[in-house]
Amino acid sequence: MATTHNLGFPRIGAQRELKFAQERYWRGEIDQAELLKTGHQLRSLNWQRQSTLDYLPVGDFSFYDQVLDMSFTLGNIPSRASNLHTDSAAELDTYFRVARGRSAHDSACSGIHAGEMTKWFDTNYHYIVPEFTHETVFTLKPENVLTQIAEAKTHHKNIKPVIIGPVTYLWLGKEKDGSNKLDLLDQLLTTYQALLATFADQGVEWVQIDEPILVTELDKHWKNALRKSYDLLQESPVKLLLATYFGELKENLSLVSQLPVDGVHLDAINARHEVEPLIDSLPNHSVVSLGIINGRNIWKTDLSTTLDWLEPIAATLAERLWIAPSCSLLHVPVDLEAEQQLDPDIKSWLAFAYQKLDELDLLARALNLGRAKVADELESNRQAIVNRQTSSRVHNPQVQHAIASIYPHLGQRKSDFEHRAALQRAKFNLPLYPTTTIGSFPQTTEIRATRQQFKKGGLNEAEYTQQMQAEIKRAVDEQEALDLDVLVHGEAERNDMVEYFGEQLQGYAFSQYGWVQSYGSRCVKPPILFGDISRPKAMTVHWTQYAQSLTNKPMKGMLTGPVTILNWSFVRDDQPRSRTCYQLALAIREEVQDLEKAGVNIIQIDEAALREGLPLRKSQWQSYLDWAVESFRISANGVNDETQIHTHMCYSEFNDIIESIANMDADVITIETSRSDMELLDVFEHFNYPNDIGPGVYDIHTPNIPSQAQMVALMEKAACRIPAERLWVNPDCGLKTRQWKEVIPALENMVAAAKALRQKA
Ligand code: GLN
Ligand code: ZN
Repeated sequence: MATTHNLGFPRIGAQRELKFAQERYWRGEIDQAELLKTGHQLRSLNWQRQSTLDYLPVGDFSFYDQVLDMSFTLGNIPSRASNLHTDSAAELDTYFRVARGRSAHDSACSGIHAGEMTKWFDTNYHYIVPEFTHETVFTLKPENVLTQIAEAKTHHKNIKPVIIGPVTYLWLGKEKDGSNKLDLLDQLLTTYQALLATFADQGVEWVQIDEPILVTELDKHWKNALRKSYDLLQESPVKLLLATYFGELKENLSLVSQLPVDGVHLDAINARHEVEPLIDSLPNHSVVSLGIINGRNIWKTDLSTTLDWLEPIAATLAERLWIAPSCSLLHVPVDLEAEQQLDPDIKSWLAFAYQKLDELDLLARALNLGRAKVADELESNRQAIVNRQTSSRVHNPQVQHAIASIYPHLGQRKSDFEHRAALQRAKFNLPLYPTTTIGSFPQTTEIRATRQQFKKGGLNEAEYTQQMQAEIKRAVDEQEALDLDVLVHGEAERNDMVEYFGEQLQGYAFSQYGWVQSYGSRCVKPPILFGDISRPKAMTVHWTQYAQSLTNKPMKGMLTGPVTILNWSFVRDDQPRSRTCYQLALAIREEVQDLEKAGVNIIQIDEAALREGLPLRKSQWQSYLDWAVESFRISANGVNDETQIHTHMCYSEFNDIIESIANMDADVITIETSRSDMELLDVFEHFNYPNDIGPGVYDIHTPNIPSQAQMVALMEKAACRIPAERLWVNPDCGLKTRQWKEVIPALENMVAAAKALRQKA
């Protein structure tokens, strides 16, 4: 008999109920009791929906972030916030304060800065980084998870608390004082022992303890920490299911099989070939939990093929086999059934969290009762799989032909940078320290309303065009008045830098409710890339052309790059990511060439998400970077020497990828730098980065208006590292989240700073 369980469930609710309740609570529109009620209802609903499982996950619900919850359970609250709460109601407010900070403006007390946020492994979920110092003291505060356990027990007889393992918890955090966080391990383990004992007191049999760092490269200190932790925790009065996910164990497989736990969960989607070696090396009483439904994508599982592979394993393992999704379902949308507008064919190929649980249940019944008992359901699954495999909406011979004829030359500029730069200088005649912006201007409520109205049919095409052109004109007029050197059209027509292109490309579909939590109350709705990508017609040319017609200054065309489109979409699982990326690259290349033909001679291709796509293991970085950079080059480099290609990346870590960044060979790269005091440019300097750089001098994430003097000082620091002739002056990122009344004075100061620098030069 195979046992079914789940590693975690989305907590946002099918209609983002949690988000709306959180935000209303923060605005003071509902009280805490109301917020708690929403949490309670969502948990109940989630558990009801999972009631066919043999073990219900508990503790996966969170009012903000599961890592922050763990910090609270361990009593590891940053000292700047820890003295603020006196009772449990105040505790939830403290929790939100650590998550979100508190500005000095909106209360009489001093400000509290928010905890740092960073990406959860290679997902688009962001967690609040635990903070450590040599003085950190852990104190068990299990009330929150105990409440959830008590609730869950009213739903199901078997519950399984889910916690982050001690070693992953330490690994995720950051030392604030230069101490070594591994020195905290002994103390931390004592607290974990107490937590596990508390679970046992509640009658808990199994605890899922997540150690996803086991799919990354670990040095001996971290491996030793894992050994030591589980040697100690094995004495606990509960059974431990050690969960690994998001990839292969590789060299950590033998370590995993030696850890004295009662069961191991393996990501059998990404590490299927490790299932047998793991089973062979585990003790013969150990539970083997296989993650056989992909928890990271939205595709239906091929159930028959899965059973072909799984049945012999089930026969061998018998009672020892557990099955589950590969990882927590946090990373997929909640319910496909809610979708009313998806094309029925495409919908029939998909599975969201609810449907993935149904698949799991079906697999369990097939294993436990025999396939004959579920023959009809298996047959309808098979039909959907075959339909997708053979659909002409997925497979476009023309695109496949184009991919096959990609040759190295395609990504190569005609001449080297020096030669191009000379031609571009002559053509554009820009001053020293040219000024520009990153693309978007404030997205006002009117702009959003206009787009919405158009979408709902309240405006016809001509009316919409006219209104958007008025917005473009406003942006151009403002930029002329500011005396910026290279202008942009302002992106008023774009809701989102990926969705905007996805909507115009063939091979993309869009859900109505396919939300996934990104952090806190923020959710994203990644477009669904289901088929071969082609571009039926030009996507941005008429807007850019219109903008250019309003000014004699150069107008910069604005596109999203293939790697960013890929990394911010749900993509196909039936071909390698690289192949999908090349298809996107060819589509963007066509757009670049159409812009060039239309007289747009400066074109920016944003690659905001290039770094995000790096694999978890460093040993796999280069192969990703190779195809990612090649995709960018294919999209960008088919232009004439006089055409100036810009790229933009709004992050500030280039140390380990600088060579690939240089290989992109963009004429100008604009990056986020204002908060790093230009130190980020050191790596560009040491690498002798050859092309132009626009280090951001204006932090667009805050409403603060940088002064001319601040920006001059920053650029002077930049000029110590990069020759002034190769420097541009620009903000860190796009301005769409700012207001005009912030943007205008800030850009006035920025342009004045550039002029002052020119005077001094
Ligand atoms: N061109 C985009 C903008 O200005 C870039 C956004 C981004 O890098 N995230 O909004
Ligand atoms: Zn940016």
